[in-house]
Amino acid sequence: MMLLQKSSSIPYPNTMLNIALFGPPGAGKGTQSDHLISRYNLGYISTGEILRNELKQDSDLGRQARDIIAAGELVSDEIIVQILEKTIAAHPHANGFLFDGFPRTTIQAYILEGLMTKLNTQLDCLINLDVPEEESVRRLLERGKTSGRSDDNEEVIRNRLKEYEKKTLPVLDFYEDRGLRIDVNGTGTIQGVQDTIESIAHEQYTKRPVSLVVFGYPGSGRGSQAQALADEFGLEFVATGKMFDEEIATDTKIGRKVREIYDNGDLVPDEIVIPLMEKKLAETKDVRGFIFKGFPRTLVQSYILDGLLKKHGCTPPKVIEIEVPVLELMERLDRRSRTDACMPYDNTTEKIVRRLRDHEQKTLPVIQKYGELHGVRKIDGTGSFEDVFATCAKEVRALFEVGTA
Ligand code: AMP
Repeated sequence: MMLLQKSSSIPYPNTMLNIALFGPPGAGKGTQSDHLISRYNLGYISTGEILRNELKQDSDLGRQARDIIAAGELVSDEIIVQILEKTIAAHPHANGFLFDGFPRTTIQAYILEGLMTKLNTQLDCLINLDVPEEESVRRLLERGKTSGRSDDNEEVIRNRLKEYEKKTLPVLDFYEDRGLRIDVNGTGTIQGVQDTIESIAHEQYTKRPVSLVVFGYPGSGRGSQAQALADEFGLEFVATGKMFDEEIATDTKIGRKVREIYDNGDLVPDEIVIPLMEKKLAETKDVRGFIFKGFPRTLVQSYILDGLLKKHGCTPPKVIEIEVPVLELMERLDRRSRTDACMPYDNTTEKIVRRLRDHEQKTLPVIQKYGELHGVRKIDGTGSFEDVFATCAKEVRALFEVGTA
């Protein structure tokens, strides 16, 4: 089965889940990480582990950090920034990131915000594993018997906990203020804590509305497929054509302008499209997601859509393109132009050709852009409506399944 290409060259798929595991040394952050990483296909970023690797390799960074780690103090934020960028770049196909032992200072919390913005995403939550000091010490001493870590001895452990209290605990306020802090009692069984964390992760994973853009030449069936997908999955169908029709039907000022533009077979300008789209997204509340048809049609519109989706907390769009050979498109459009389903913008051959050319010149570059960004799933549109729908539906379903989007 070929899902949206998880191939070698497509970085950062649609759905991202970014979680920070927080807590004192010995809280169980490392232990709890494995499950989340494999279940959600997350890139694992443990600054402590990365630093220990640098020590092992005796790199410049490792040498700078050695004595600080051995004393149980925190290494500088400058060093942390350097190792982070490198590690994020090493996980181009992750569905998001799990941070362990980072951020450990308020400055690092700001750094994380910047990193997330750069990746066009955000931290979903910080899970605070609450474990009393004496329990931490007990666990770390136990671990020290086999871990081989120079910092797992009582004197250094006490110092690490002191550093935690002084420099790391204030990070909780940072996330409390942003509504991202979730406290979990870390003293239960490993399985019990894992179950609690899993239910938090699942809730975070499914809370963002999904978005899907359906591309295809006029006549490819994109409109009817997108509408059917919206009905099947409870998504809001956002079709610029339909929005314009409503304006025309109610004879608004915009509607009259659009009718004139239709008569010429031109594209409706962005000055009209964008405010309508903005209004549509703002008005639609509590939906599972959006499905766009006929938008974005130009590169400019695609940048605007990306911004609007981000503003409304949606996932970046999953993009599918329904492909139908040009001759068949012409036949379908010609047939339609002689039925009641004929649209004012494709009632003559001249207008039809113009629309096909517009798609080729203005919209194909948009599809290419999305191809480079997240990958585009190409779907053969020549089968029966039901066959094409079944293939499209499989793609949409994957958006709601953990780890497969
Ligand atoms: P950990 O494996 O997370 O317990 O980290 C081991 C040690 O690495 C810490 O005691 C610090 O010296 C250093 N370290 C790890 N992560 C950070 C961080 N985000 N900021 C500063 N120092 C860190």
